[in-house]
Amino acid sequence: MDADQFREFGRAAVDYIADYYETIRDRPVLPSVQPGYLDDLLPKDPPQSGESWRDVLQDVDRIIMPGITHWQSPNFHAYYPTAQSFPSVVAELMSAGFGVVGLSWIASPAMTELEVVMMNWLGRMLELPEQFLNCSEGPGGGVIQGSASEATYVGLLAAKEKKVKDLITENPQLSEAEIKGKLIAYSSDQSNSSVEKAGLLGSMKMRLLPTNGQGQLTADTLQEAINKDKEAGLIPCYFVANLGTTPTCAFDNLEELGPICNREEVWLHVDAAYAGTAFICPEYRHLMKGVEMADSFNFNPHKWMLVNFDCSAMWIRDAKYLVEAFNVERIYLKDQHKGLAPEYRHWQISLGRRFRALKIWFVLRIYGVEGIKKHVRNQVGLAKYFSALVEKDSRFELCSCSMGLASFRLKGDNALTEKLLQKISDKKNQFLIAGHLNHRYVIRYAICSRLTEQRDVDYSWREILEAADELVPRANK
Ligand code: PLP
Repeated sequence: MDADQFREFGRAAVDYIADYYETIRDRPVLPSVQPGYLDDLLPKDPPQSGESWRDVLQDVDRIIMPGITHWQSPNFHAYYPTAQSFPSVVAELMSAGFGVVGLSWIASPAMTELEVVMMNWLGRMLELPEQFLNCSEGPGGGVIQGSASEATYVGLLAAKEKKVKDLITENPQLSEAEIKGKLIAYSSDQSNSSVEKAGLLGSMKMRLLPTNGQGQLTADTLQEAINKDKEAGLIPCYFVANLGTTPTCAFDNLEELGPICNREEVWLHVDAAYAGTAFICPEYRHLMKGVEMADSFNFNPHKWMLVNFDCSAMWIRDAKYLVEAFNVERIYLKDQHKGLAPEYRHWQISLGRRFRALKIWFVLRIYGVEGIKKHVRNQVGLAKYFSALVEKDSRFELCSCSMGLASFRLKGDNALTEKLLQKISDKKNQFLIAGHLNHRYVIRYAICSRLTEQRDVDYSWREILEAADELVPRANK
């Protein structure tokens, strides 16, 4: 394919995406295909000679589109948002067009340098303490990871490195293997599955501690667990606090948990994957009070900040521990500019890195900080609007409402709410998922798409009521 054909193909693809967005509201959110559907539609072997891009684009429409779940539909309310915006899509296109891999400064200076500046911009937007920023005097800094899962895992490995080093310095007779076998990590039973997975990948037992009725881990619970483990000869090493849990967007109290971690020399990692974006708005910053006690902090611009997947912003108070954990040198990686800019390959798992900073830059320049604030406030307002609708109907119970996420259930047995969700899902017009809160089955309603408006929430509620009417008669009927 030459440059002229690329122009044609690219323009047609952009048109296709623009048309898709203009019709997305009218499409059922959930596809109707069955597992294995694609295998029947594709040839068993790849083509021997190249085909026309027009045929490929046609097949996207014919074969791929029917199997797409429309995450960006205004009727998508499952999980948490996965951000999409046109500036970000264009940045992704340009990044792919440049085709660079930033494994060192010289491998593409603009990549490392834009990342440093973007991480400082984001840090200042959230009003993170200076110590986390690349521009501070200290050893802190920010890096773009692919996902919150990676950030939690990378934090765990840095915590392990630090703990082993500290203990061996204090007690040189201890062996690394002896220490590693006793390390223990903590988080709450409301934490994301990726937190437990970080423990599995990092070979560190992860205790998921019980939360209070609001989905928060209390200081007493953490302290008791640490005391018990120390008595049993284990070594507390890593704690993941949640600012915005996946089930209900609950916030742990860092002001209470932070001092325990600092006193016990337990690495405090803050997972604010979804809700972190809200800290751009001053009215939500009280929810991250105590963040100065954290060793690492992470949020996903790819969730709520209009930056396409993947883009996860992570700051570390002392990047030395990461660099020491991941520093593997080879002659082919040597760069004469060593020490003048972060060598981000030492801050992450893989060697190669994508030009992710470009999409943050495009989004911030085209929306502006005010545009992002407006987006967050609008989505929080829509979740509140939905919650008010739930509260007006006496058959329902509103179980939580925090940021852009509400959860609700039908009063009575869990089975009733399960049936309700099944009925809603069967229609495929909206996508909602279940959760558990205080051992009860709830339905989560998240405002995900940047296209969702009040009329879409009204539509959701009408669909939910229609399904509920088949299960529980309306009181005023
Ligand atoms: N942490 C929380 C609180 C989440 O809600 C999620 C995903 O929804 C994650 C972590 C995992 O995010 P990622 O897909 O970026 O690994």
